Amino acid sequence: MNCKIGIRGLSNGEHPFHFKVDGSFFEAYESDTVSDAELDVNALITKEPGRMSLDLGITGDVTVKCDRCLADLKIPVDIQVPFSVMFSSYAEDAEEGVSDEVILLDGSSSEIDLGQIIYDYVNLSLPIKKVHPEGECDPVMMEKLKDILK
Ligand SMILES: [Zn+2]
Repeated sequence: MNCKIGIRGLSNGEHPFHFKVDGSFFEAYESDTVSDAELDVNALITKEPGRMSLDLGITGDVTVKCDRCLADLKIPVDIQVPFSVMFSSYAEDAEEGVSDEVILLDGSSSEIDLGQIIYDYVNLSLPIKKVHPEGECDPVMMEKLKDILK
């Protein structure tokens, strides 16, 4: 799945990018946590003279296995992260006083690859305990597990 944004030659101003991320994306990263996904990714690039920022929004849901019944469990995702985009040659001077997350690019980069960033942020957003609300676990699976654990 292509999560790359071309930044070469962007004019000053705001440039919105949108793409969808599904289960095949997590498959490609060999995720053993996320089995399916329906995510909208919005990236707003704001370019000003000498400065570039990227506001990343990831919304939708991902499917994981419930820790208790092992059936599918959908977890809503709503992530908003502001990034400063920096080129490595300037990064050292610029790093002071920057509170945003930073996307560091090689000076010759013509694109930003959001793939790893999306993968990391979605994984970090998942709760440690992934379970259905009390009483909503798959009853068939719970019976089977009870038999196994007897
Ligand atoms: Zn469950």
